[in-house]
Amino acid sequence: MLTKLKRIVKEVNQNPVLDDALSGVVKSLKEAIKVDSVSIYLANYEKQCFTLRATEGLAKSAIGKVSIGFSEGLIGLIGQREEPINISNAQTHPRFKHYPEVQEEQYHAFLGAPIIHQRKVLGVLTLQQQRKRLFSQDEEAFLVTLAMQLAVEIVNAEARGRFSLSDENSEQNEIKSLNGVPGSSGLAAGVGVVQNLLVNLRNHVPKRSNDHDIQIKHYRAAVKQTREQVELLSQRIQGEVPDDVQAIFTLYQHLLDANSLGREVEQKIVLGWDAPTSLKLVIETYIAQFQAMSDAYMRERAVDVEDLSNRILANLLNLDTTRLTREELPEKCILVAEELTATMLAEFPKGRLCGLISIRGSSNSHAAIMARALGVPAVMGVTGLPLSLLNDKDILLDGYTGAIIVSPNQTIEREFQQLIHEEQLLSDKILAQDDLPALTKDNCQLSLMVNAGLSAEIENTYSKYADGVGLFRTEIPFMMRQRFPTETEQVELYRAMLMAEPDKPFTMRTLDVGGDKPLPYFPMSEENPFLGWRGIRLTLDHPEVFLVQIRAMLRASIGLKNLQIMLPMITSVSEVLEAKRLISQAFFEVKEETKENSGQLHKPKIGVMLEVPAVIYQMPQLAKIVDFFSVGSNDLTQYLLAVDRNNARVSELYDSYHPAVLAALYDIAQQANKLDVPITLCGELAGEPGGTILLMAMGYRKLSMNSHSVMKIKWVARSARLDDAKILLDEVLAMSDPKNVRERVNQYLESIGLGALIRAGI
Ligand code: PEP
Ligand code: MG
Repeated sequence: MLTKLKRIVKEVNQNPVLDDALSGVVKSLKEAIKVDSVSIYLANYEKQCFTLRATEGLAKSAIGKVSIGFSEGLIGLIGQREEPINISNAQTHPRFKHYPEVQEEQYHAFLGAPIIHQRKVLGVLTLQQQRKRLFSQDEEAFLVTLAMQLAVEIVNAEARGRFSLSDENSEQNEIKSLNGVPGSSGLAAGVGVVQNLLVNLRNHVPKRSNDHDIQIKHYRAAVKQTREQVELLSQRIQGEVPDDVQAIFTLYQHLLDANSLGREVEQKIVLGWDAPTSLKLVIETYIAQFQAMSDAYMRERAVDVEDLSNRILANLLNLDTTRLTREELPEKCILVAEELTATMLAEFPKGRLCGLISIRGSSNSHAAIMARALGVPAVMGVTGLPLSLLNDKDILLDGYTGAIIVSPNQTIEREFQQLIHEEQLLSDKILAQDDLPALTKDNCQLSLMVNAGLSAEIENTYSKYADGVGLFRTEIPFMMRQRFPTETEQVELYRAMLMAEPDKPFTMRTLDVGGDKPLPYFPMSEENPFLGWRGIRLTLDHPEVFLVQIRAMLRASIGLKNLQIMLPMITSVSEVLEAKRLISQAFFEVKEETKENSGQLHKPKIGVMLEVPAVIYQMPQLAKIVDFFSVGSNDLTQYLLAVDRNNARVSELYDSYHPAVLAALYDIAQQANKLDVPITLCGELAGEPGGTILLMAMGYRKLSMNSHSVMKIKWVARSARLDDAKILLDEVLAMSDPKNVRERVNQYLESIGLGALIRAGI
């Protein structure tokens, strides 16, 4: 049954035209489960109705014509109830409504299941039979499973459809919009530049073409070229690789020679597809066939088939896949990537980058945090869309709402540019505060610090207005290399950082890789990376890496007194003790090695991050062995709520205003103050206006944030009163819904004249 199900779902995935795909589904489903009629209705929210989009068994003439209101008939009932309905004689059901056009008089048994994606009813899938009978539990379960899988494919197919076929079939300049998750606030207008755009059939956007002869000629030339390339490759590696690798090239040649492949592709061309699309359609069927084989070796060959076809496609498109040089890049680029990485951001020519789009990730992914650190608007988690569709297109990006507009018309573009201008004015106003203190109207002094690690240039510009660095994410420089940096390389980097503001504290966090921060040269593949080998867990397992880093920090600090060392992902007291033992060892080694300067080496303060909920209950024990605490509210929120910060699908559940998170943050502040241990909060919440107000009221006086937020938060502090913030905190701590908390906090911000910040979403 599972194989049948997969095959049916693939039908949608492979077919570029949604309606064709749906008619394939109803046909296969009717055959697979032997019923008299199968139909699919899709919802139209504008018209508030379900429209018949595919059927095997009802009148085909009704397809696209029959619409059933959301509150009408059995189809409407399934949509309203959001659950399957199984009836032996539909015509006697009180909600049955007769639609003569569909000609269903002969059917009695009826089973319908809603097609739902992310709580939204997309449509209804129905089975009908002449005989009066209840469908079996198995049939019902099968239909529900199928409807669930179809939902994802329909959403993806709709996104693809909006971008692909419309290129030829609709008017020019059609505006296309997409939605993702807000990653970094701000507006951007630029041209899409897709990074690492590999020539890949999966990303290929289907296109129609009526020049059959030209398309066939192109296809044959590409196959010839590929055959020559494969032959060359095969000769080059002969004798250097095992026989089974060599055999892959033989398989390639066989496939290229096979009449069937060429014939099938050419048949598709004659049906009106261009050569790349025809190749895609045929190869995807081949891949599915290989994947369905029982022999494991043959199943694996699906990868080879795909690789070979990507080579043909590259020749067909005559694409040079090398990256664009600086000169070739547009003035204002919107970088689009499957998954944004630190390296991509760091390597992108400065001054050209005005926006970011990441297909994967969410607002609390490290890529989004980096975007915020750079002050570049970003949208994350734009799923279901082949990247290549955004390459070279004019794009407007709204990092506040997660909206993306592709190929805008002049009116929209003009309005958007006006908003960008207004945003700039607000930002100038905030920046004009220069070096005023972060002091509330009732004289509560906040200490604002910077989270550093990505761009020394930017961070240095703002850090002169801040009271130090509260978090230096040392892993970013590690991620940008092809190997671990040497001790000397690390010393140079850390020294430059410590020297920038030698009189202000500088908190260096030891390597915190793992989770969504992989090292390219230290492959880790884990089922559950955020609960896995991350941060201190990894470095304690590799003292050689940890010790080199600590030695480098200490050597960099010779003659300076501002270094503080912070340990990430601490779960247990024993981890701190072990880390401190290694830090002492490194300290004595460095002291010994730098005899003449040894008086100049100062013992750094050592602190821990409070980001795993377990430590909330161990603060008294930890207080005895550390010099400071720093709350990592990003991870604390993820672990308290059990919501993966990197997963766009659950991004709405990730909320630092959740009552449990607020209660934990309050508890931590109270405990730290009672234990008399200095405490900072260095998660993203510190850089949000509402977050600052609540944290201040809870008792936090040191907040560390991305450099772009420092001036804004200073403005917030200077507009607020601690007394009022405390009243607000009492009120929101009694609330049970994060939405109400946000509303109430925004109301307060509005009342102290910060409405512009909320409206801008800054
Ligand atoms: C945090 O978890 O809040 C934090 C500051 O660290 P990171 O975002 O790097 O995990
Ligand atoms: Mg963290």
